[in-house]
Amino acid sequence: MIQQPAMRSIVWCTLVSLFLLGCSRPLPEFHQTLFVFGTLVEITIVNEEPERATSAAKRVDEKFQLMHKDWHAWKPGGELAILNEHIAAGQSLLISETLLPLLTQSKQLYQQSDGLFNPAIGALIDLWGFHSDELPEGPPPEQDEIQVLLDKRPGMDDLQFEGNQVSSTNPFVQLDLGGYAKGYALDDAITILRSRGVANAIVNAGGDLCVSGRHGERPWRIGIRHPQGKGVLASLDAQDGECVLTSGNYERYREHDGKRYPHILDPRTGKPVRHIASATVIHGDGGTADAAATALTVAGPDHWFRIAKQMGLKYVMVVDEAGTVYMNPQMAERIVFEGAPPADIVLSDPL
Ligand code: ADP
Ligand code: MG
Repeated sequence: MIQQPAMRSIVWCTLVSLFLLGCSRPLPEFHQTLFVFGTLVEITIVNEEPERATSAAKRVDEKFQLMHKDWHAWKPGGELAILNEHIAAGQSLLISETLLPLLTQSKQLYQQSDGLFNPAIGALIDLWGFHSDELPEGPPPEQDEIQVLLDKRPGMDDLQFEGNQVSSTNPFVQLDLGGYAKGYALDDAITILRSRGVANAIVNAGGDLCVSGRHGERPWRIGIRHPQGKGVLASLDAQDGECVLTSGNYERYREHDGKRYPHILDPRTGKPVRHIASATVIHGDGGTADAAATALTVAGPDHWFRIAKQMGLKYVMVVDEAGTVYMNPQMAERIVFEGAPPADIVLSDPL
């Protein structure tokens, strides 16, 4: 009986020191870089056993490579390419459970954006030379070539769904998910990591990202790219489950005779968006954030607010060529500019 308190304190001390040992030996941060979707994707995982982090990241890599192949807009053999062939031939196709939600959600986002996000304009994107791993060169397409494709009026409303059976009332619909699939995939990566027990992670594709949990004691602090490629414009704390996507028409473009023709097209004119702009959207759904960022780049400084409202967005920032920043007050509360804030900040009504 006399031994008991002593025993108890030995057990207690052992437990405490085990706990302290656990605390004093933080798990190393896990990093892995993948090459997929034509870009580098960095997975960072914190506070996790290395084995678990490694196997979860491996699963993300495998899934990303499959998505890249299946959803490719112009390389043959993937499911989207096969669907495009069927649409062109006026045939329907039974598609997988994996592709179906991308198409149904894209159709909804098309409608909410008044067609500014229009992944049915693959033929126009191809005409401008962007269905290539290399940047296109030479003169832009002729107006009559553009007009021929515009007159076919490809839109997501042409797509019809009967269960998994997809058809198009318009054979000139050519699906290109380049403005949406990356956001969808980043979000899916977070779902995969969580399903493998990884709670705290960030998946970052060149500044487009989704996060889970926290970075240790703090939220994930992330940078927003400067629209004209001048490093980081601002930072913000991304909360658990959020995605931050930025689109801009300054990065990928065709250049001819000193003129730039960027890769985001205005579906109404069939031509690259004329005003230089970038749009950043924070949203809990990665696909929505990506499509919205593309649509708002098309909408530009004059029309972004209406489209953002229609799309149900809560956090938006648009930057124009002069560096003027347009955002809603909720976004302004979260943004921390690097260095001196921009000279012109235009706050909208709340979203
Ligand atoms: P990034 O991938 O550079 O971040 P986006 O998300 O805006 O930029 O995607 C641009 C891609 O989306 C283009 O390369 C093209 O494949 C496709 N695209 C271009 N214009 C549109 C549009 N108006 N609606 C939907 N997709 C578009
Ligand atoms: Mg996009």
